[in-house]
Amino acid sequence: MAAPQHFSTLYLSAPDVIALVQRKGIEPCLRGIADYIHADFLRWGAFDKSARVASHSRDGVIELMPIADGETYAFKYVNGHPKNTRWGLPTVMAFGVLADVATGAPLLLSELTLTTALRTAAMSAVAARALARPGSRTMALIGNGAQSEFQALAFHHLLGIDTLRLFDTDPAATAKLQANLKGTGPRTVACTSTAEAVRGADVVTTVTADKTNATILTPDMLAPGMHINAVGGDCPGKTELHADVLRQAQVFVEYAPQTRIEGDIQQLPADFAVTELWEVLAGQHGGRASDAAVTVFDSVGFALEDFSALRFLRDAAAELGMGQPIELIPQLSDPKNLFGLLHTRSPLLRVVA
Ligand code: NAD
Repeated sequence: MAAPQHFSTLYLSAPDVIALVQRKGIEPCLRGIADYIHADFLRWGAFDKSARVASHSRDGVIELMPIADGETYAFKYVNGHPKNTRWGLPTVMAFGVLADVATGAPLLLSELTLTTALRTAAMSAVAARALARPGSRTMALIGNGAQSEFQALAFHHLLGIDTLRLFDTDPAATAKLQANLKGTGPRTVACTSTAEAVRGADVVTTVTADKTNATILTPDMLAPGMHINAVGGDCPGKTELHADVLRQAQVFVEYAPQTRIEGDIQQLPADFAVTELWEVLAGQHGGRASDAAVTVFDSVGFALEDFSALRFLRDAAAELGMGQPIELIPQLSDPKNLFGLLHTRSPLLRVVA
């Protein structure tokens, strides 16, 4: 019989990941996650991919996002409940796991709420680096909630965006974003409508939350050469772009089978032409056709980005000596004698007098 394998799972709590980001710095974390995403997208063919499994309810969605290569398996649990902020809960909450494909042993259990915001912003910047016009300096940021600072900083540090034109239907969200960005580099301008915010913008990021077919961007707001980073439309019945915006643009997606269900392109026929971003990154597709073309990154969030983010966290935690080993799986001296564990005295049992 093989010797029993004793292993523990590394646990990164929300406080651990906050401390990890504070120790490394937000710019290195955004750059690091972007590098891991870019590298993993170049290995597109090595992954066993599927659209995420979604459980829809009246006010939101809960999703499981699995993916694996030959060595490592990952999944993320994530929700999207736009009304949550009314009850003092975030719209998006997440955690995830990295596991060893050879044995199935879970190696890392981590918070992914903060990390999802970092990886979504890093992903947006990876796409925009490939698709936006070089020299883009001004970005409109529509929707100034939980994700917005991360988007702002990723575009500032990774793309060179120095001016942000902001709009949210909730002025308090814009004020919060401006306060959080103070002293971080980009200039911010609060606007009173989406139309005002997008005027003169090289890049437009929409990151609103509303479970409806919204038309945040309409064709009259488009300008030649614009790059649109559409982040908020990410499940059936939840879109941000007028269908004619998509028809007038070159549309790029993460993983087409998932985006056709969840992205803004859900409004269009199943044969509407889109390009998967990995093709552009790998040099198999030319990307932006001209300086005047309008490009759209129809972002929904794909499992590979969480795989990359979890890899980044695992490596950063090892470098900094962070996280706690936990016994998520019982340690067995005889792997076939699971029942025998119930014959041992658990150290957690208290003697009742
Ligand atoms: P949030 O609730 O914290 O913020 C959303 C903001 O949008 C709010 O401030 C709200 O007032 C504003 N808003 C709603 N309707 C608007 C409108 N018509 N015009 C302008 N502003 C409007 O949510 P969040 O965590 O920032 O997430 C934003 C969206 O991004 C959600 O829909 C979420 O599901 C999505 N998301 C996508 C990805 C991805 O990978 N594509 C990842 C994370 C989150």
